[in-house]
Amino acid sequence: MTNLLASLKCTDEVYLIVGASNVAALRINSILEAGAKPVLITNQPSEKFTKSIQDNIANGNLKYIEKEFENDDLSRLGRNEVDNIVDRVFVTLPISQYEVKKQIYQSCRRLRIPVNVSDSPEFCTFSLLSTFTSGDFQMGVSTLGKGCKLAARIKRELSHTLPSNIGTICNKIGDLRANIQEEDKLELEKLQSDIDSIGEHDDDAITTSKLNSLVEEFNMTKEQKKLQRTRWLSQIVEYFPLSTLADLSLEDLSVAYKEYNSIVKTQTEPKEPSQKKLKTTKKGSISLVGSGPGSISLLTLGALQEIHSADLILADKLVPQQVLDLIPKHRTKLFIARKFPGNAERAQKELLDMGLESLMKNEKVVRLKQGDPYIFGRGGEEFNFFADHGFTPSVLPGITSALAAPVLTNIPATHRDVADQVLICTGTGRRGALPNLPEFIKSRTTVFLMALHRVVDLIPKLIDDKNWDPNLPVAIIERASCPDQRIIRTTLSSVAQAIEACGSRPPGLLVTGYACEVIAKPNVNEKWVIEEGCASASNSLLEPFLQLAGTIEKDNLPGLQQQSLSVEQTA
Ligand code: SAH
Repeated sequence: MTNLLASLKCTDEVYLIVGASNVAALRINSILEAGAKPVLITNQPSEKFTKSIQDNIANGNLKYIEKEFENDDLSRLGRNEVDNIVDRVFVTLPISQYEVKKQIYQSCRRLRIPVNVSDSPEFCTFSLLSTFTSGDFQMGVSTLGKGCKLAARIKRELSHTLPSNIGTICNKIGDLRANIQEEDKLELEKLQSDIDSIGEHDDDAITTSKLNSLVEEFNMTKEQKKLQRTRWLSQIVEYFPLSTLADLSLEDLSVAYKEYNSIVKTQTEPKEPSQKKLKTTKKGSISLVGSGPGSISLLTLGALQEIHSADLILADKLVPQQVLDLIPKHRTKLFIARKFPGNAERAQKELLDMGLESLMKNEKVVRLKQGDPYIFGRGGEEFNFFADHGFTPSVLPGITSALAAPVLTNIPATHRDVADQVLICTGTGRRGALPNLPEFIKSRTTVFLMALHRVVDLIPKLIDDKNWDPNLPVAIIERASCPDQRIIRTTLSSVAQAIEACGSRPPGLLVTGYACEVIAKPNVNEKWVIEEGCASASNSLLEPFLQLAGTIEKDNLPGLQQQSLSVEQTA
């Protein structure tokens, strides 16, 4: 059983503290920071109080009543508006006073007052978390009462992995959301159901299964275009390097609808840079580079070299932070594609134009692509585009997620007598339509990319129209090779239900076929089984090597990093 973690608003609530130990002093400070009003009851002589308790009494922050606790204090000292019942009770009496603690606990239970008795988990209806606060960012760690020292240590370790501007990021994103919602108020009211499906109103937006759901960019109403900004913000929060989010502005998100008409125009009438001019100045160079599925351990040395020698890096939004952290921040400009639902075409054009512009300035451009550049990465189109403009790219393969994910999931894509062929296909066709779906072949492992947001449409078609076996073992693999990798093993007919229940953690793919149960045996008792984390995701072993190779500056390491990206670079 787990506890329900919550963040409580406690302004002006009255919290009773019984006993004046060192723990009481800490509790009083936390209570004051949260805006509640502490009342201390103890018959302990005040000269023995800690300095902090004495100061709080002296400056009027802490009400102090010198007496022994009595039951009716609980229903006498609180706020008028709740019939004088105190809002919360903290007991910090010594272990020897077991009976008193028990009695306070029982009285609180009767009156439904949340109570915390230190060192007595059996008498607690709630406990405080070990917290880290920076601006509007708060993080709490709980070990379910198993050890506050351990919780504090874990909290410390976790807080060190966060960007140092995490507080600013929260404030900024919060302000942006509020501004957008204010501006879109009318539309939001009209289209409440749409917004709910975006997940922005959920506290846990990242894990809602609709985050990546399809937007038909060519059929959007004006209202939907406006709502794009909310959706884009979700996507930016999901994909962009955390530390750069503080630089985001409303302007970056406004482009989506303010310039919509001109966007459509540029899509149909692309503005070609002048060939003539290009031919006379072409000294820049471009490479299309695969960055692997996520972990830097799966980046090739060739890719690393390219990253290190670029003037401009044009990255997919899927290229994860750990790879972006390798970019020498003082020398190299970074632009991350704004490929969000409803903006794919425009974002692609923007990226290509930016590449050309840089090439014309004789710069070295690296087009960094998730996985392998030629597996559903529009790599071929990009090659042709640059070649047609006089800059023939060199292309460096990367490890595709389609083949790495099964390996990281213990699925041998081919296996004697089980699977003699592998198919990589997409779940999303042109303009969001369903693609041509493959027939069922028993001895085939099929990997569907860009499919998880379409499973509700996709799977019935596979089963009904293409004769796929509903009981076929499958695995959903999300953020393969990243520390937050997740595997959900289930059967074809339960995929949609599993995603609905577990939410999504993009990017993710679906592997189907009997190869899925060659190593991981099926679990007959559960409809699906979840595995969290990726043992090989840790890059700590690589750090000395990367530093030796001169690839990482100290402040480029994840967590310490503060990329100095401009707004144009990040959004
Ligand atoms: N060129 C990429 C694929 C681009 S298409 C490659 O070779 O991997 C984008 C799709 O790839 C996503 O929708 C998702 O299905 C898949 N994908 C990319 N990275 C992934 C990862 N780390 N884990 C799981 N799926 C991933």
